Amino acid sequence: MNDEKVAMVLGLLKDANTIVIVGHKNPDGDAVGSCLGLGHFLSSRGHNVQVIMPNDFPEFLKWLPGCDDLLTFDKSEKDVTAYVNDADLIFTLDFNALDRTGDLGALLEASNADFIMIDHHQQPDGYAKVTYSDVKMSSTAEMVYHFIDSLGGNAEITEDIATNLYTGIMTDTGSFRFPATSPETHRVVADLMEKGAQNSVIHQNIYDTNSPDKLKLLGVALKNLTILPEYRTAYISLSQKELDENNFRKGDTEGFVNYALSVKGVIFAAIFIQNKQEAITKISLRSKGDFSVNTFARKHFNGGGHTNAAGGRSSQSLRNTVKEFISILPSYKNALTQNA
Ligand code: 5GP
Ligand code: MN
Repeated sequence: MNDEKVAMVLGLLKDANTIVIVGHKNPDGDAVGSCLGLGHFLSSRGHNVQVIMPNDFPEFLKWLPGCDDLLTFDKSEKDVTAYVNDADLIFTLDFNALDRTGDLGALLEASNADFIMIDHHQQPDGYAKVTYSDVKMSSTAEMVYHFIDSLGGNAEITEDIATNLYTGIMTDTGSFRFPATSPETHRVVADLMEKGAQNSVIHQNIYDTNSPDKLKLLGVALKNLTILPEYRTAYISLSQKELDENNFRKGDTEGFVNYALSVKGVIFAAIFIQNKQEAITKISLRSKGDFSVNTFARKHFNGGGHTNAAGGRSSQSLRNTVKEFISILPSYKNALTQNA
């Protein structure tokens, strides 16, 4: 963050008694870790802080320090509305368009509070007084570390803050393997470990807490894997029936799309998941190299994200969404097969 933005943030914080920190709908490790990490920091500086998510977050994150105090809009609409209406300052973390918070978006939109955005997704909207956006960053959690650092708060990073930020960085980098992982990411992580983040415990809490149902669902997903070698593409689909038969719980399908991307030669992967309750098909897209799934998701599936990881949705049935996806591929054949 440049000096001008730091001065603006310090000015906004000076007058902020009540602060709300919001993550995106269907929050992931980066959203929850970033919000809780920043929340601990701002509380310790004497602010009255409330972390809010649009809806529930996955079970495998339900050990993060401070997560019990988090409120979700779908379960605590009244309390959340009161906090948002009373807020002097609202941080939005790990997203850059208010509609990424679902029904909570209208409430945020109507708020008189000043907004500060901290985010690493492409093409940020202009709603914030201070926009700290850096698409090269591995994760929002890495940005929260730099944010705290530039406010002179490095020495105030406690074990709880370090644990939350480490978790955000680790989950968003696929355990430090995605291209956005930089030497600086590793320096940040080293500092977080020195401040008390226990890397091995965190990895076990996140990755070694699978339920048998989740692994059975993974088995179904892998059975459904379809490879289209002519487009260097692979995709997986999961119907609501398949989810129900395996007692699907939030977060169970996280990472499944990476199996499609792990097929030798494949550079573009998708997973299509039916959501009967919302009457949509949710789509996750991943790529290797220059093929931008952000552009693809924006253009065809009302979504967005990063160059190599994006998501979107369709109001079509699962079958028809997959059909549409396949019908689009020929127009990308050159992009997908160049340098093959
Ligand atoms: P995932 O596939 O893991 O849900 O998301 C991958 C990336 O794309 C994340 O950074 C996420 O924030 C973003 N993303 C997922 N779904 C959507 C969507 O519907 N709209 C937009 N703009 N971004 C999305
Ligand atoms: Mn993120």
